[in-house]
Amino acid sequence: MEEGHGIPRSHPRYHSLVIRERLVEGFRKGIVVPQGLIAHGRGEAFDYILGEKTHPFAVRAVEAAVASLLVAERPVISVNGNMAALAPREIVELSEATGAPIEVNLFYRTEERVRAIEEHLRQHGATRILGASCRRAHLPGLESPRGVVCEEGIYSADFVLLGIEDGDRTEALKRLGKRVAAIDLNPFSRTAQMADITIVDEATRALKLAVRVAGELRGRPAAELRRIVESYDNRAVLREAFKAMLERLSYASSKGLLLEP
Ligand code: ATP
Repeated sequence: MEEGHGIPRSHPRYHSLVIRERLVEGFRKGIVVPQGLIAHGRGEAFDYILGEKTHPFAVRAVEAAVASLLVAERPVISVNGNMAALAPREIVELSEATGAPIEVNLFYRTEERVRAIEEHLRQHGATRILGASCRRAHLPGLESPRGVVCEEGIYSADFVLLGIEDGDRTEALKRLGKRVAAIDLNPFSRTAQMADITIVDEATRALKLAVRVAGELRGRPAAELRRIVESYDNRAVLREAFKAMLERLSYASSKGLLLEP
């Protein structure tokens, strides 16, 4: 189906509606589960408060995440149904630009859905992809199938980029000593609080930006990339995310309307 789905471009919620349609289509193709639609609604509420735009704190987090993908020894881009439905092209481009493989990693895992997501990503050009045919390993502390990952992927990774992820699984990765970057619009979530790098931005926007940043950073010396990673302060980024929300809410609560402060 043509992108836009008959939604007029002049509609004030055009982008948000196009994104919803992508998820609904993903649901029809067996890529997205109903719970994924609910999780998206939670994200949308936070995006509304943030003004549906990428803030400077998210740009800093994306830069640190991309620099980490480039300097890590075994980086992995972890992809679930929502991520695959929302930004398949950007995921593939980010993988190509950083050399990090993509792993299909699902909370509601069935082998059929893993294969559907793999196929969807291949249709968008993915070559480096770990999914249904990888050697399985299990994340300690999570019951099967929530804890199933690929042995040569997430299980042995030193750095994992996650998006729209659940707190238990992020915690399991942290327990194994991995560095984690998470795209999550909700800075209150356990994932956002536990990650080493929290990208408080909508996944589609964040991944587009990550592809651009990867193009800029990939030729840089490793020492410069390490400096970006080492000087990054996630607590400061989370503080700024909460502050941006507070400022918009405080403006709205004093004026009774929500315009750009
Ligand atoms: P946690 O277990 O980490 O406390 P949670 O229970 O909210 O979080 P889920 O229900 O799995 O976890 O939701 C995933 C998270 O992804 C939510 O915090 C939601 O705000 C966020 N999210 C949903 N859609 C998007 C999106 N398109 N871009 C960025 N973040 C999103």
